[in-house]
Amino acid sequence: MTRAQAIPGEHVRIAMDAWTEPYWLAAKAGRLVAPRCAICGTFRMPPGPFCPECQSQQIDWAELSGEGVLFSFAVCHRSPFPGKVADFTYVPAVVSLPDAGGVRLVSNLIDVEPESIRIDMPLQVVFSEIAGGWKVPLFRPTRGS
Ligand SMILES: [Zn+2]
Repeated sequence: MTRAQAIPGEHVRIAMDAWTEPYWLAAKAGRLVAPRCAICGTFRMPPGPFCPECQSQQIDWAELSGEGVLFSFAVCHRSPFPGKVADFTYVPAVVSLPDAGGVRLVSNLIDVEPESIRIDMPLQVVFSEIAGGWKVPLFRPTRGS
């Protein structure tokens, strides 16, 4: 069986603004964080200027455990960069973050056989280097689960 791989990092570039920069700086340092409204405590993902509950722009950045729960996924076998990278197996996934109020993060699963992936399986974050020396959070099954 083919294990799910990370998308080749040299082809992954991020766009950043003042609202997302703390998220990417934390990821570069190997930390998973999420923006929490400083007024009402509601988490939001992706990071953005306004709280969906109270429209406040005040943010506290919460340090997370890196634990996730699989909400949804797709198994892909065609290269996202045809002509540059040969076909390989990768798994885009939507991951719920239980210690951030269940907000969901779009990521990828790695180090897993696609046939063994199950909704609600416990996951753990890992950080993978991409273009420009940045890192993206990816997820793998929690060991022992
Ligand atoms: Zn709020």
